[in-house]
Amino acid sequence: MNHSMIALVTGGNKGIGREIAAQLAGLGHTVLIGVRSIERGEEAAAELRAAGGDVTVVALDVTDPDSASAAAETVRSRFGRLDALINNAGISHQPGVDFAGQLPRSADVDHVRYVFETNVFGVITVSSAFLPLLRRSDSPRIVNVSSSAGSLAAISDFANTDPIALGYVASKTALTAVTMMYARDLASEHILVNAVCPGFVATDLNNHRGVRTPAEGAASAVRMATIAPDGPTGTFTDDQGPVAW
Ligand code: NDP
Repeated sequence: MNHSMIALVTGGNKGIGREIAAQLAGLGHTVLIGVRSIERGEEAAAELRAAGGDVTVVALDVTDPDSASAAAETVRSRFGRLDALINNAGISHQPGVDFAGQLPRSADVDHVRYVFETNVFGVITVSSAFLPLLRRSDSPRIVNVSSSAGSLAAISDFANTDPIALGYVASKTALTAVTMMYARDLASEHILVNAVCPGFVATDLNNHRGVRTPAEGAASAVRMATIAPDGPTGTFTDDQGPVAW
């Protein structure tokens, strides 16, 4: 699209979300970063503004419906609409739970639930809060940052003996399913809803073990956030194209 969008990036203060915000701002869009720490958000926003971006911080804890409602009200009163919602905020595990404690063989349902609260229910919470504002856009779109780690084909690959974290992987499977449900249901309203996988990116989420840069990881989400109004919906893609899910 060629006119300036108002885009909200959840978890926009660091990692891939910060880079999504930077790239969208670099394209001339008005970017709102949804953050659960205003202090960390303002630090990130100051850097993005120093690079010339039009960036605003919005308090938003995706696990808190009241926070999501308040964020939507803030955006409504200041901007009147939202063109692009990028549901990027995500966690790999509950803080304090070691990797062994994330495996199915030793699963604690509270740990799994904790991850789902952010990665799945958080996306639904934020999407519900912002749908009224997306409906005020002439080209609304939602981008969900999922992961190919949640692809059923990958999970059921018994040849792969790498230990696999239950909450994270299953939450991303669910998130991709949630994306398809929203895409189908919102198609009649011409709201485009797509999932993307950023690849294995060096961020705090994986203690910087990833091999891609945040800028590389952000590209798929930026591409989907800026597709034409008659662009695809209900897709799951990465840099290489469609991702099996
Ligand atoms: P980071 O840990 O670097 O960043 C995660 C961001 O999400 C932070 O800004 C964090 O805020 C925010 N966040 C977490 N919980 C909440 C919450 N309850 N409310 C609001 N914001 C929250 O991770 P990445 O940048 O790597 O991850 C971004 C997305 O990309 C995630 O959805 C992740 O699953 C996905 N992804 C990442 C991959 C990778 O290799 N890195 C691979 C595939 C997918 P705070 O600073 O307050 O903690």
